[in-house]
Amino acid sequence: MKTQQVVVFDLDDTLYKEVDFLKSAFREIADTIGHPEVYNFMLKCYRDGENVFKTVIERYNLSYTVDQLLEIYRNHKPDITLNTSTVAALNALRDRGVTMGLMTDGRTVTQRNKIKVLGLSRWIGENDILISEEFGYGKPDIHCYEYFMNRYPEAVFSYVGDNLSKDFVTANRLGWNTICLLDDGRNIFKQDFDIDESYLPKHKICSINEVLSLI
Ligand SMILES: [Mg+2]
Repeated sequence: MKTQQVVVFDLDDTLYKEVDFLKSAFREIADTIGHPEVYNFMLKCYRDGENVFKTVIERYNLSYTVDQLLEIYRNHKPDITLNTSTVAALNALRDRGVTMGLMTDGRTVTQRNKIKVLGLSRWIGENDILISEEFGYGKPDIHCYEYFMNRYPEAVFSYVGDNLSKDFVTANRLGWNTICLLDDGRNIFKQDFDIDESYLPKHKICSINEVLSLI
């Protein structure tokens, strides 16, 4: 019998660009507080590395707290999409009979909203989605990876992510194939490959469709 292939994806800055979520949240905040021009101001603050919400509240003398803006940021329904090459890659993996999973660190509401809007249920079953807040462990905790190994004891595994500090180290140790989607300049967290070898991915790719040739 053919060996079952399981490919587990990271979400943010792997299946879509997290900066698009950030822009969507800034747009929502600007609309909510009724100052459309605040959108560009927040983007500029973000790019300048400032504390965005604190700065915008002071500058526009808003009657909102940082926590209130954070709540909008985290809980809004994001305007984000999968790019067409990612959709094509996921379709091709599915057509090949590959089982796909998702392992993402973050809040349940925030990550669930993203998963829903991106339509990831087209490729990934509910029981193959791990969100750190609801699962109780986040990367690189071994429980996250063992969850999939227990579900598919006969399978071979690949992890596709972008964050060198936590995505690959445990997967490497457990014998998974590890694949890093390279930053195209838009990632929220910059990639530093000058780290201990145990943290490095086995492969680097520029597009999700390259996963097809690595499994
Ligand atoms: Mg990521």
